[in-house]
Amino acid sequence: MLKYKYIIRERGFHMKFISYIYKGNEGYGIVDKSNNSIIPMKSILTYLYKETPKNLLEFIEIYSDTLIEDIEPVLSKGNIKGIPYDDVKITAPIPHPRRNVFCLGKNYKEHAMEIKSLPSGNSEIPEYPIYFTKVADPCIGHMDKVIIPKEYTDNIDYEVELAVIIGKDGKDIPAEKAEEYIFGYTIANDITARDIQKKHSQWFKGKSLDTFTPMGPYIVHKSEIEFPVELDIISKVNGEIRQSSNTRELIFDIPYIISDLSKGLTLRAGDIILTGTPKGVGMGFNPPRFLKSGDIVECYIEKIGTLVNIIE
Ligand code: MG
Repeated sequence: MLKYKYIIRERGFHMKFISYIYKGNEGYGIVDKSNNSIIPMKSILTYLYKETPKNLLEFIEIYSDTLIEDIEPVLSKGNIKGIPYDDVKITAPIPHPRRNVFCLGKNYKEHAMEIKSLPSGNSEIPEYPIYFTKVADPCIGHMDKVIIPKEYTDNIDYEVELAVIIGKDGKDIPAEKAEEYIFGYTIANDITARDIQKKHSQWFKGKSLDTFTPMGPYIVHKSEIEFPVELDIISKVNGEIRQSSNTRELIFDIPYIISDLSKGLTLRAGDIILTGTPKGVGMGFNPPRFLKSGDIVECYIEKIGTLVNIIE
């Protein structure tokens, strides 16, 4: 049994890290518990440092578990003025990841069973994790539009996924120490052009088109979520539930993924791992139910929030 590093407890605020544009300037901060305002990290960190990291990715790179403890008393004083939540444009928490996003294919049993039509595509449960990466630069944010390049594809699909944000560099990480290497969690929609995915023996191209990685709305720090992570995960298209599962159903769980992926491969602070999607993708229906212009896709994960995107 894994030990909890953190005691999950009630605070006067959430540890929800958000990136945004306010009055034309990029910023990042912590969402107030009422969800009404954002406390800019710049204001928090000036109490602690001379120079502050300029975005959330740089913050994660200098992050350590003690830093969170330093931030808590500054926030608890409650004397930093927040900016109204409704006045910012939310961006992806990490709009420009340093590297491709790491992904797992077929990591929920029932989803593995529903896939029959892809190359490499049989309905078997994988014996080893299926890793691939996708270009996600930029990641798009909450309420942003997914643009379908209609001249190349008309088979656009959604995949709600729990995304793990790595908090410090590590290699050959033992599974029982995996949580130490996590910064937090967010929601991703691994948008896929199934026709392009099918055409190539690698999934890379069909998943890497511009705007195909919505993420957010924010990163919830690991201290808010019990480990092992067991959260309801749901996607809806135009209000209709398509996917509904729980992250405890992952075939390869988070400690296993971090341990296995880091064997001989250094994971870096700020790396993003998409842990796979449950059953109910559009491709799994007969006939398939792909996305079309005007569709609204909602990706929900318990204790994190809802990521909404519009298909254009
Ligand atoms: Mg996926």
